[in-house]
Amino acid sequence: MDQVFAPWRIEWVEREGDDGDDRCPFCALPEQTEDRENMIVARSDRSFALLNNYPYNPGHLMVIPRRHTGDYRELDEETLLDHARLKQRTIDALDAAFGPDGFNAGLNLGGDAAGGSIDDHVHTHVVPRWSGDTNFMAVISETKVIVEALEDTYERLHDAFADQAGTERPDDEDAAVRIVGPRS
Ligand SMILES: [Zn+2]
Repeated sequence: MDQVFAPWRIEWVEREGDDGDDRCPFCALPEQTEDRENMIVARSDRSFALLNNYPYNPGHLMVIPRRHTGDYRELDEETLLDHARLKQRTIDALDAAFGPDGFNAGLNLGGDAAGGSIDDHVHTHVVPRWSGDTNFMAVISETKVIVEALEDTYERLHDAFADQAGTERPDDEDAAVRIVGPRS
């Protein structure tokens, strides 16, 4: 039987040590300033790029518009463009940092039926793929190992975004890279 292959159908799981904030995490996280701790690696005017806590593969990111809506059709043009541009930059950064063979990029819309864990705030998963790769989750199940791997991944992607044209490397090393201009 054919199986639909959709690596972005993976839970986004909140980190331990969250402030017990019951709000939507995709609204709450970018309002905080601890980008490195929160794993926000880059910010544009209307979107941000967040590392997945439990990646399908190393470098599994989510590109998330700031606007709180679960309906992709509600995003206005400026937000759509900003979100799409940050997706392009995310693919650039992943190429520079990890050189994958390909990517899966996708949205889960509509809650349980679509397999997403947060259905009221649109987010695009971007998953780097390697020829013949295995499911990272099956290989590494220790949370501690994942956290260490995430910190290394964060560092590499932070550098890759900061090396791009039109970005600003923050003075504060715990801050995300700012997108300030065009890609080229
Ligand atoms: Zn939200």
